[in-house]
Amino acid sequence: MPDKNHQIFSFELFPPKTAEGLEKLKTQVAKLNKVEPRYFSVTYGAGGSTRDRTFATVDWLRSQGIETAPHLSCIGSQHQEILDILNRYKSQNIKRLVALRGDLPSGMGAKDAGDLNYANELVTFIRKETGELFHIEVAAYPEIHPQAHTAQLDLQHFQRKVQAGANAAITQYFYNADAYFAFRDECTRLNIEVPIIPGIMPIINYTQLARFSDACGAEIPRWIRKRLEGYKDDLSAIRAFGHQVVTNLCQQLLDGEAPGLHFYTMNQANSTLNIWKDLGLKNN
Ligand code: FAD
Repeated sequence: MPDKNHQIFSFELFPPKTAEGLEKLKTQVAKLNKVEPRYFSVTYGAGGSTRDRTFATVDWLRSQGIETAPHLSCIGSQHQEILDILNRYKSQNIKRLVALRGDLPSGMGAKDAGDLNYANELVTFIRKETGELFHIEVAAYPEIHPQAHTAQLDLQHFQRKVQAGANAAITQYFYNADAYFAFRDECTRLNIEVPIIPGIMPIINYTQLARFSDACGAEIPRWIRKRLEGYKDDLSAIRAFGHQVVTNLCQQLLDGEAPGLHFYTMNQANSTLNIWKDLGLKNN
């Protein structure tokens, strides 16, 4: 059975759009928190597009004494805005950040890119302004970032984020464990020694997943796609099959000594908790 004390298990949330959504999220977090994840992370829209909502979600989590890792994406922001956010998180005794470039919202062009172009520059800036105060996670792409010119360059860019001071990485989701193991092997070859935590996307809704995957370059293997397509509107069949696929993936990753799992919960507790239960990850 995986040892929860030596591996990092975390849950990702996105900030709800409405006050009603935030109330619903509180119920989901209460369920998720019972299994004692190491922390909850909260996404942040590039260019500050979700800033107030991210703050509201982070504020509530902190008011509950929950360990929180806000995401911070730099594209479209000025140094001062980022510094203000870092100071806010510092005052809330936040110890962990997920540092990202983000993607410019559609309609914004190069002139709106802001002061920092890539995540390695953000990591450098955070370290310069706040020293070792924050544990910094960055993103990794076992199936290659969609804008990367080559896999090798993408890996070098990942290495720059680690050299800039990242402590660990969370991957984009994937459904092929070999992609993760091959990426980890390449990192080892380059002496990149930070933990690389697989990002896990439960399969809840096929249409939404297919749309996300096209946008972020995550591959849904043909056999999984075909099975999911075949279920059409049968949500319970999609979820049952998705549960099996993702639980098997997690088991393969843990058997292969992945240093933990980061679940993209999509603000829905049950699908993540069902996987958790079948992996035998009981809370201590
Ligand atoms: P970078 O590491 O900067 O890489 C972006 C691209 O540029 C890559 O193709 C890379 O190869 C290339 N590159 C990197 N550095 C350089 C350089 N110095 N010179 C030239 N090329 C370079 N997005 C959000 O908006 N908000 C979120 O909260 C959020 N959370 C995420 C959490 C996780 C775990 C992951 C995996 C992704 C998340 N994203 C989020 C999406 C992410 O912002 C996008 O994938 C974005 O396109 C890249 O961000 P990055 O931090 O990986 O960028």
